[in-house]
Amino acid sequence: GIRIKEELVLIKQLLDAAEIEFICEIENKLSNVSIYLENILSMCMKEAVTNVVKHSKATVCRITIDQNSNEISIKIEDNGIGIGKNYDLSKGHGLIGIKERLEFVNGSLEIEDRNGTFILMKIPNVIM
Ligand code: ATP
Ligand code: MG
Repeated sequence: GIRIKEELVLIKQLLDAAEIEFICEIENKLSNVSIYLENILSMCMKEAVTNVVKHSKATVCRITIDQNSNEISIKIEDNGIGIGKNYDLSKGHGLIGIKERLEFVNGSLEIEDRNGTFILMKIPNVIM
């Protein structure tokens, strides 16, 4: 399993290579999150960032990580062409895979087209 901290290093390398500026904001340092959940979140982050590199034509990618007593949330935003209002999840396997992984741990995936693509991943902040 890979910790979020480690995944962020790989994501930075991926975005550097694609010449996309990376902004990472940790609102609250993660505490008491199992390697199991961190691994799931890491895989989801990697897939979303791969999409930014492959599809977005963005110049900036911002990741915001937060944890409160209820939930852990990770936002992945880019300033690219956007996913469109009528995006089709069945077009590929990436976003469907993220959604399934998150729902498997009682989490959720939200996707919006707002000056680029906005992805919000949430999971309950429980020990799993
Ligand atoms: P796969 O992930 O299976 O290799 P994919 O990347 O095409 O293929 P998804 O990850 O499910 O599939 O994404 C579905 C579609 O949503 C993409 O084909 C692309 O059109 C669009 N998309 C996803 N992320 C972005 C993004 N950050 N910016 C613009 N379009 C996006
Ligand atoms: Mg993809």
